[in-house]
Amino acid sequence: MSQLTLSRLKKSFSGTDVIKGVDLEVSEGEFVVFVGPSGCGKSTLLRMIAGLEEVTSGDIVIAGKTVNDLPPVKRGIAMVFQSYALYPHMTVFENIAFPLRVEKRLENDIRTRVEAAARVLQLDTRLEQKPGTLSGGQRQRVAIGRAIVREPKIFLFDEPLSNLDAALRSDMRIELTRLHKKLGATMIYVTHDQVEALTMADKIVVLNAGRIEQVGSPLDLYHRPQNRFVAGFIGNPK
Ligand code: ADP
Ligand code: MG
Repeated sequence: MSQLTLSRLKKSFSGTDVIKGVDLEVSEGEFVVFVGPSGCGKSTLLRMIAGLEEVTSGDIVIAGKTVNDLPPVKRGIAMVFQSYALYPHMTVFENIAFPLRVEKRLENDIRTRVEAAARVLQLDTRLEQKPGTLSGGQRQRVAIGRAIVREPKIFLFDEPLSNLDAALRSDMRIELTRLHKKLGATMIYVTHDQVEALTMADKIVVLNAGRIEQVGSPLDLYHRPQNRFVAGFIGNPK
């Protein structure tokens, strides 16, 4: 069953069309990567799915329900950003717990969930440290922890690794793939990095200037690009 459906989705900013009619189906548990050049509309698409940006026309359907008018907190979605602004004066525990404090959860519930998230992310020995004492990869995991504690059905990642150096990026790719298997959640991951797309995705969505050029498995896109753009961007150039 399709967990997330986008149909004829469009977005314009003061008369300029940025997303020009996107149709897409995402199944439960799928790892979908949106890839495309800078400015093609990846973040805008993600922000619309999250509810941070209004839809100009078309529909976003989650688990059979149109969510166009639902606020972000009611969509069962958590978003992880590229610049993971952690609170420097708070411990790792409190940083991860923050969304649950906002929701006014009970202390016991908060502790259970934060500890479970920390175990998954291998941060359980770091809970009393401040972010400043952590490595870049550990800080990124704290940011992901903040998303996990809310137990979303769908995770959205907007270029979460682009601030990390190459070695760390490669470690985090493996971490995220492991996390995906462990949580079994649906993940939509935005990147402009072909290698990330090819190594992490179940399904790749190639975007160009507000439209989908091709959707397929990494092998499909690599070996059978439908056009020059896809071939040049991700495929096996002939
Ligand atoms: P990407 O994430 O693929 O780099 P974006 O979704 O950020 O691309 O942007 C797509 C296009 O929409 C760009 O041309 C950008 O300038 C424009 N855009 C994004 N957000 C806004 C906004 N709030 N107001 C006006 N234009 C915007
Ligand atoms: Mg972007």
